[in-house]
This record gives sequence, C-alpha cells and structure tokens, in this order.
Amino acid sequence: MLKPRFKTDPLQHAAGFRDALTGWFSKCGKDYPWRRTRDPYAVLVSEVMLQQTQIATVLGRGFYRRFLETFPTLESLAVAEDDRLLKAWEGLGYYRRVRMLRETARAVISEHGGMFPSGLAELRKLPGVGPYTAGAVRGFAFDLPSVVVDGNVARVLARMMDFSKPVDDSPGLKQLWQWAEVLADPERSRIYNSALMELGQTICRPGVPDCLSCPVAEFCRTQVPETLPVKKTKVAITEIDEHALWLRDPDGGILLHLEAGKRRQGLWKLPTRPAAEVAGLPVLIEHRYTITRYRVTLRVHDGTGLRKVSPAEGESWQHEGEIPHLAMPSPFRRVVEELLAES
Ligand code: SF4
Repeated sequence: MLKPRFKTDPLQHAAGFRDALTGWFSKCGKDYPWRRTRDPYAVLVSEVMLQQTQIATVLGRGFYRRFLETFPTLESLAVAEDDRLLKAWEGLGYYRRVRMLRETARAVISEHGGMFPSGLAELRKLPGVGPYTAGAVRGFAFDLPSVVVDGNVARVLARMMDFSKPVDDSPGLKQLWQWAEVLADPERSRIYNSALMELGQTICRPGVPDCLSCPVAEFCRTQVPETLPVKKTKVAITEIDEHALWLRDPDGGILLHLEAGKRRQGLWKLPTRPAAEVAGLPVLIEHRYTITRYRVTLRVHDGTGLRKVSPAEGESWQHEGEIPHLAMPSPFRRVVEELLAES
C-alpha cells in the first residue's frame, strides 16, 4: 500500500504532532452532539453508550437523544426505576452499563453533592469509571489535562510507533498509555483527544487505513499499518442453540419470562425450554445473534399444540398491548415483533 515516509519522531516533536492533528481536526472534525456539550453528565452518558456500540448506531437510531430526553439530569437517572432504565437502554445491549451509570449518578449525588468532580482520582473512585472514562470526562467536559486510550487511539499509537506487541494485554496497554501521556496536549485536552479519536475512526481505521489523507503521516513509523495493531489470540466463538416457546392465551396474552439473573435482570423475553422439551414442535421463526463469545441460534417453537402450560417461575401472561412498554433484549424484541405482525 502507499504510505508517506516517516520523517519526524512524534515523542521528540510532540508539539508539532499536536498542531498537525488539531489543525486537521479543526477543519474536518465531525459535529457530534456530545462535542457540543460541556455537561459532564451528558459526556459520561455518551462515553458509556459508545463503549460497546458504534457511533452510527448511537446516533442513527437516536439512542443518545432519547436517553437524555428520558433522563435529562443526573438526579433523574439516580432515581430511575429498573423498568424505565432498561427500556431506555433497549437495543444497546450490555445492560450492566446502564445500571452502572445509575450507580455513578447516585455516587455523584451522595458523595459530591450532585457536582461531578474533575480530579482524576475522584473520578476513578466513581462506580464503573475506569482510566479511559475518567480521562474522557475530565478532558471533554472540563478541558483539563487528560489522557484517553480507547480502541481507536490504541490503533493509531500502535501504528505510529510501529508497535508489534499485543495491545490488549497489560504490558502492551501500559506502553500505549505511556506514549499517550507524552503526546497529550495539556492545554487543549478537549480538542486534542477528540482529534486523536477521530483520526482512528475515520482515517487510521481498522484494516487498511487511508495514509495518503493522514494529517500526521510524517510522524508515523510503520510501513505495514494494515498488520497493526497486534492482538492476543482471539477467543474461540462457540455456537449454541436457544429454544423459546410462542404461546398465546385467548385474551391476547403472550407468555413471557422476566429475567432474574445478574446480567439481564429486569428484562423480558420469551420462555425458553431445553431442546428435548420442544422437540417435534414446529419452528415459527429462527434468528441468529452474537453475544460476547457465543453465536446463538434462537428458534421459536409454536407451543399451541402443548396440552396444558403452567407458567414456570418468573413467567407470566403479558397482554400484547403492553409489550412495546416492556424492556426486551433485541433478539427477542425482533422475533416477538415479527410473530405479532404475522398473527
Ligand atoms: S493513517 Fe495511521 S498508519 Fe497511516 S500514516 Fe496515519 S497514523 Fe500512520
């Protein structure tokens, strides 16, 4: 691939690197809603939302706007009931994130009188706030010196420094944070960090980057960017089957199960059964989805033929009209909506 030659060591010429990066960003930077606010609460919501979800999804499907309309302040989030909280997060998955966000809101109120701290040490003590999130809130909301290393920044740094060791173990991460600290701009934290992240999102993207458009190409050591960053061996994906029942009563009720486990507590889904129990029942719909290291095939069986169904623990009949108001994991929302549309 075509790539301009490395000419200038970024660690020795950090000021030049920052100017090249921020100059490009001030002309080409994207206008995201979280870049228009200085409210640490709104910044935190965006950071938590974007941890495992793409910007296009968060913006395109209106998640960020809707969440802040539902919970416009720290106080409104702190007192949110589980059902409203989970409903506002529906479609984003990894529901632990929103529960932790509520814990953070409660801690800011109880320990800081409702005012977000700006110190790294205080931010790090908040529930669920790690080094990245603390740096992001401090830099984006308060414009104070901060360092952020997310996946995009890690990729840019690994390529710039031609780093061929894994970036997802502790020695690799430690090295990236050290470089990030040397390069960080203490006087323009907000714009510098936004610029570095955006470079990773748009130009120094995964796979083959667009080095010919890169504003910091002269500071970049690698000649094989498409091979970087190096990651530890990938976790193997396990295929699993999940069998659910579709059961309706004559009054418009649909049998649903309210989750009680830690990860999905408070979410509704169709009742699931072991494969042997549903063997022979017709499959109405099949849907594949991936969660963490599992690739799941969800099969929904028509339970109409079953002689008598007594709801198991956690199961109850929910009226069809109530279903849009219940929080459901996306795969179950999808199959339930399709089945309702067909009926
Ligand atoms: S796009 Fe990435 S790999 Fe290419 S020159 Fe810029 S920093 Fe280096």
